[in-house]
Amino acid sequence: MGDTKIVKTTCSTCGSCCEVDAYVRDGKLMSVEGARNTPLQSGGMCAKGVAATQYVYNKERIQYPMKRVGKKGEGRFERISWDEAYEMIAENLLRIRKEYGARSAVFYAGYPKWYRPALLRLANAYGSPNFCTESSTCFQAAALAWRSLYGNGICGPDMKNARTLLIWSSNLYHSNTPMSGMYQGLKKRGVKIIDVDPRHTVTAHDADIHLQLIPGTDGALALSMAQVIIEEDLYDKEFVGQYVYGFEEYKEYVQKFVPEEAEKITGVPAEQIRLAARTYAGNGPASVMFSASPIVHHINGVQNYRAVFSLIALTGNYDVEGGNRTQPGPFSPANEFGKVRRYDGEEAIGQKDFPVWFDLSCDEAQCTKIADYILEEEPYPIKAMFAMGLNHRMWPKPGHLLDALEKLDFYVNVELFMSDSSKAADLVLPACTSYEREEVHVGRGGRFFFSNKAIEPVGEAKNDIVIIMEVLKRMKQRDAAISDEVLEGGYDAYMQHILEPSGLTLEVLKNHSEGMMGKNLFSPVVKTYEKQPFNTPSGKVEIRSLVLERYGESHGYEGLPVYHDYRTETEIDRTEYPFILNTGSRKPQFFHARVYRMSWLANIENEPLVDIHPEDAKRCGIEDGDYVKVVSPAGEITGIAMYNVMGEPGIVYIYHGSSKGEANELIGKDYVDPISGFPGYKGYFCRVEKEERR
Ligand code: SF4
Repeated sequence: MGDTKIVKTTCSTCGSCCEVDAYVRDGKLMSVEGARNTPLQSGGMCAKGVAATQYVYNKERIQYPMKRVGKKGEGRFERISWDEAYEMIAENLLRIRKEYGARSAVFYAGYPKWYRPALLRLANAYGSPNFCTESSTCFQAAALAWRSLYGNGICGPDMKNARTLLIWSSNLYHSNTPMSGMYQGLKKRGVKIIDVDPRHTVTAHDADIHLQLIPGTDGALALSMAQVIIEEDLYDKEFVGQYVYGFEEYKEYVQKFVPEEAEKITGVPAEQIRLAARTYAGNGPASVMFSASPIVHHINGVQNYRAVFSLIALTGNYDVEGGNRTQPGPFSPANEFGKVRRYDGEEAIGQKDFPVWFDLSCDEAQCTKIADYILEEEPYPIKAMFAMGLNHRMWPKPGHLLDALEKLDFYVNVELFMSDSSKAADLVLPACTSYEREEVHVGRGGRFFFSNKAIEPVGEAKNDIVIIMEVLKRMKQRDAAISDEVLEGGYDAYMQHILEPSGLTLEVLKNHSEGMMGKNLFSPVVKTYEKQPFNTPSGKVEIRSLVLERYGESHGYEGLPVYHDYRTETEIDRTEYPFILNTGSRKPQFFHARVYRMSWLANIENEPLVDIHPEDAKRCGIEDGDYVKVVSPAGEITGIAMYNVMGEPGIVYIYHGSSKGEANELIGKDYVDPISGFPGYKGYFCRVEKEERR
């Protein structure tokens, strides 16, 4: 038996890309732990990451290219060579382009995300406007809300210099584990923490003020805080006077949300709202820490987030030390997006339904309604899908998408596992985990590091970007016009291209296992707005958005961050569906669907758990541990009732992604925010009934 060696590499089971030490013996991954001797890491790791050996050596790993031999969706495949697979892709994609046009092929990036820029390059080379990603249901609506106000990318919190931190619906212990150490440091430093969350999470437990609102009422709460801040003259008059557009209308609008009124909507006591508003505005500088999805997984999500983001401008905490700072650098691989031209020829999918998504520079199509677009051939026929990591369970009514995928003329999924989404494909290609490939990364503060290959790929699995490069090459052999300089250079050249703006070379970085600071870092600057106007139509922070108002008549969008209540404005009969249904609130052991196949994690919940408040359960005659049926206007599933007092009565929480009971089947496919297209996963309706054991 050989010696155990430690390889510096990365975990990418979720999107956080944590640096890890992999213990490898005789070419096999034995165990992993958080990297030691690395900034911000101390050997610790989350439950999902620790289960790495179950991830890498999972019996459902796809080991070879597999071609469908049964009927669509039947799941019968046979092994083929990589050469056959590449030829099949090139032939089919080019045939479909010739018959229906380039727009009829969709290029989709799911999880992980690291290959997105390369896939966008492939879509561009092919000529399709339909590059889209899982961001159609995650994060991007938050970016859209921000951009409608400030005209740039989201400015993160400057926690190092903040005296107050307002955490808006982010339980970072479960959703952003690497940040939890930093959070504890803030507490020790005496930073005032305000946490907004419908549940009493660990993060909320440590906060000075916890605003436990009813899910989806974020807008009313933020507008109420604004009302207090304006009423009590705590706002930054100079910043507002010089740099904010629409303040007078906003000031008038927020009067409807005096704390006593907001209490009736949000469930947060009026005095708590006042205290939070005074603390955020009075104990500055203050930062707001955001979350990717909880707020925008509501049908008024964009406007709710606009109301939250407006607080930053109102208090002058935009782009100041300790506030929410612009990030001119350092360069990150994600910036590669900015360097790829956006294909702006044909209409992309989602463009008619969600025009602001495109106006506000989201460099991708909006694909929440892709199942309808495929099945109804609107706005035009979609015939092919080249997907990487597609997980249909990220959509509302996932079964509807599976039906649509089976209708496609040609569907490829590049994946780690033979998932249900893969079973609907014509061709499934095996991808590597991060343990089986090399990568360059940039960490916090401009520190670059090289992630080593810890083990050889399982079976014939390949690096996603190498697959993309080969697909391009095969298409180019048939049509010389299909080209991309970067993708044609080989993988090492690609990594060097990513590093280019940093001033580092791949060769040097590979020899520095501790990582290196980029040479060409931008110096931190503040108050960028003093030198250049905001990138909005008015040149100011648009609390009243002129981009949204463009679509007032056609789509009913409003410029102010208006609050619409999904509970009172719905046509759904609330007597039949009395509970608010929330799917997908993070649990420490889960990350979407893929980890359910790892027994160390999945065995924690053998069946979907239906978190219900004991008071509600007793009213329904349900005991803790009973089998229950959850029924919504869109569907029903069964699970096990679990008494949970983290949330208030009236709300039912179920995590999504389980094939034993998919919670997202309960969400109506058209139940989406009309601005972003994001599904209302965290604010739909249901009832819960006791079910005798099946
Ligand atoms: S948070 Fe956990 S699962 Fe995500 S990358 Fe880090 S170790 Fe892996």
